[in-house]
Amino acid sequence: MEKYKAIVEAIKSAKNIVISSHKSPDGDSIGSSLGLFYFIESLDKKATICHADKGSLSLTWVLGAHDIVTFEDQPEKSIELFEQADLIFCLDYNSADRVGQDLAPFLIEARAKKIMIDHHMHPADFCDILVSETNVCSTSQLIFELIDKSGNLDKINEKIGTPLYLGIMTDTGSFRYPSVHARTHEILAELLKCGVKHYDVHEKVFDTNTMDRLQLRGYVISEKLEIYQDYPIAIMSINEEELNRFNFKKGDTDGLVNVALSIEGIKIAAFFAEKDGQVKISFRSKGDYFVNVLAMENFEGGGHKYAAGGISFQPMDKTIELFKSLIPKYF
Ligand code: 5GP
Ligand code: MN
Repeated sequence: MEKYKAIVEAIKSAKNIVISSHKSPDGDSIGSSLGLFYFIESLDKKATICHADKGSLSLTWVLGAHDIVTFEDQPEKSIELFEQADLIFCLDYNSADRVGQDLAPFLIEARAKKIMIDHHMHPADFCDILVSETNVCSTSQLIFELIDKSGNLDKINEKIGTPLYLGIMTDTGSFRYPSVHARTHEILAELLKCGVKHYDVHEKVFDTNTMDRLQLRGYVISEKLEIYQDYPIAIMSINEEELNRFNFKKGDTDGLVNVALSIEGIKIAAFFAEKDGQVKISFRSKGDYFVNVLAMENFEGGGHKYAAGGISFQPMDKTIELFKSLIPKYF
């Protein structure tokens, strides 16, 4: 594949490489960033990963995660990285604003060559090389394709493979979603062959509950879950006071929206979490119901057909009211 070879050439001729991803990094942002980072290292080149903020504890155990520069901790260093870069990778996002409002202006202004590798629909036109594969489950899978299709499969090792496995696993709900193809499993097999300890990744991501986290989740499920009468929709919400009661840590409510979606007959689920006076919303759906358009048109968000997110600057009750009022229009 010519595009992938061109990307490897760009890496080989660059001096200052920066790897960026979207704000509130998930397993795929961290996985694809670190997978690419170690691939670049295997080419005897160096890169720096710069994200807006840190990932949750269930993700930051991966080798190298603590060396990721974040704007929240090191704003000046982050700006300098973008200003001095001659090559910037844009991983797992499709428009510049997704890096967060602090970093976006520096990404847009950066003189560097920009390469987007992503799997979200409707990529914006701000990069010099665009790899946009919306049928692929994860950006981490695309990093594997970059390595393989540029003729560098022999470079794959455990260091590269572990974050890629993490990204594929988290973006596919542990290999369950329709976005998983035979090719995904072929890649997973390659990752195991190079020494990735799959059981270790699953344990570190899923079996790391604290009492607070578990009880917060139990509370939301037992007290804050609501099913709508006339629609196959379940919602959950949590406000700041409740989060504080359970000593909320980043990641503690991750995946709760999928619990709502798991109720028999439910096709659409929404999770509303209040933080710093804003309401962050996660949407999930299945079958013939899609949530990305609703998120994009009403909550300044977007995402995939079956997994999208957005934000509201109105109070919780008004936000949920707005969501309810939109149901007849969208579903
Ligand atoms: P989550 O519910 O896990 O936060 O997000 C699910 C998916 O929705 C993400 O993978 C991402 O594609 C998308 N998403 C979440 N928040 C936003 C947002 O604020 N803007 C856009 N464009 N997409 C989002
Ligand atoms: Mn992704």
